[in-house]
Amino acid sequence: MDRYDVVVIGAGIGGLICGIYLANAGLKVCIIEKNANVGGYCASFTRNNYKFDIGVHYLGGIKKGLLGKILEELDLKDRIQFNQFDPADKIIIDGKKIYIRADPKETIKEFIINFPKQKDNIEKFFSFIMENNFAQIYKKVSGLTFRNLLDSFFDDYELKTMIEGLTYNIGISAKFVAAITAVILYKEYLLDPGYYPIGGMQNFPDALANKFEQNGGKIVLNKEVENIFIQNKKVKGVKLTTGELINSKILISNVDANHTFKKLLNKVNSKGYNLLKKLYISPSLFVVYLGLKENLTNLTNETCNIWSFDNPIQDSYFSNLKKNLKNIPFVMVSFPSAHEYREEDKISNKSTMQIFQFAPFESKRFWEGSKDLMYQKTIERVEKILPGLKDEIKISVLATPFTFYKYTYSKNGAAFGWLSTIDQLKSTIFPWKSEISNLFFVGHWVTTGEGQGGISKVIFSARKIAMLILHEIRQKK
Ligand SMILES: Cc1cc2nc3c(=O)[nH]c(=O)nc-3n(C[C@H](O)[C@H](O)[C@H](O)COP(=O)(O)OP(=O)(O)OC[C@H]3O[C@@H](n4cnc5c(N)ncnc54)[C@H](O)[C@@H]3O)c2cc1C
Repeated sequence: MDRYDVVVIGAGIGGLICGIYLANAGLKVCIIEKNANVGGYCASFTRNNYKFDIGVHYLGGIKKGLLGKILEELDLKDRIQFNQFDPADKIIIDGKKIYIRADPKETIKEFIINFPKQKDNIEKFFSFIMENNFAQIYKKVSGLTFRNLLDSFFDDYELKTMIEGLTYNIGISAKFVAAITAVILYKEYLLDPGYYPIGGMQNFPDALANKFEQNGGKIVLNKEVENIFIQNKKVKGVKLTTGELINSKILISNVDANHTFKKLLNKVNSKGYNLLKKLYISPSLFVVYLGLKENLTNLTNETCNIWSFDNPIQDSYFSNLKKNLKNIPFVMVSFPSAHEYREEDKISNKSTMQIFQFAPFESKRFWEGSKDLMYQKTIERVEKILPGLKDEIKISVLATPFTFYKYTYSKNGAAFGWLSTIDQLKSTIFPWKSEISNLFFVGHWVTTGEGQGGISKVIFSARKIAMLILHEIRQKK
């Protein structure tokens, strides 16, 4: 039986960052990952020499935000480089379009050009987001939804709709998302948006894994944890599906809380287990990955993410996901291959696209019967914004919510962990620490007080949790 100070279950970005901090502090750490690659939803895969990203298609905050700070703190800045694509996003509703640019001043101009009568309100709104710190914003928006906040700045419905669009980045509409979560998301996506790792998204988790191993950490790939074993309410280690036992003083789960309590802990009677039924999870996605016959420039010269909505954006979108299968009201299109190259060798003949829309979790059988139709409808929908797409497709790969579930064991293939409603923010709702002694959680299944926000929130939780664990260890000595 191997013995470690810490075992981390899952090599998602949360598990990797937390692992690096703990290994840096001199602990003997092992990360166990069931897949062949590290990265979880931030990993990539290759099909017919085309490289696709499973989930993450862009990152924010490398120059001015938390991700940049953490990469510097972990001495990773030289190991992984990013292209910043500008503009980062284009939001299209009914022919009206707004670009989100690398320079926030240019983004504000975009809004003012499109909505000149709202100039003052636009400036007030953006300065509220940009000039206040977390504590100031929290004081003003606590208890509000993002819609409540927008109503306090604007009365122009169309403008509000344009601003609301980006909350789809975390799978929730403005009517339900906590204002604090949306404002933090906007800070990241407006102030310093549009980063993509040179060489491909997989390079990001790979760089983290190399750093972890260089600091003495061990990564075990292609091995699945079957059970966590506990004795006298204290964790002792894990059992793998291969039957191997790994002993550890501390255990950190980077895995969905549902999977951790129901499967790995065998429904142990605990606060965490009893909470599961009460909490809402984020929705999953139907994703179309496309490899193109020719270079992307045949189709478009714009390579920013496109967020295309039917007008009006329906508040009921997320509760009607099954109905949306027949009539697709929203798609997000991104172009990973366009961003992975250095300026000097930007041309690729393996151009790729990722198209996503939200979708209901249904059985494998349901998706076997529905996915081809959904693919066809998705391509028809994207043809409206990228005419000629159909003729450019060489290969396509489809992922349903069932695929996402199988890949990470996230309940129903949830893409962003817990849903970021006002009721599900507090750090005490689903805390980093369980009542089982020495069992901790990291990643988008931990509530930190701010709501979820993809990678930036995951790394925030990972750093915080590593610091708290190290603090506890020091106190016990
Ligand atoms: C399609 C899609 C697009 C997205 N786009 C973006 C984006 O552009 N930007 C952004 O910031 N965020 C994006 N997100 C969200 C972001 O990917 C996630 O919030 C983040 O990657 C979650 O990281 P994590 O470490 O918490 O968990 P995960 O990535 O879920 O990692 C958990 C890991 O645990 C492993 N595991 C599970 N069970 C076991 C077991 N029993 N034994 C061993 N290993 C196990 C899994 O295989 C997995 O590798 C997207 C998500 C999706 C699905």
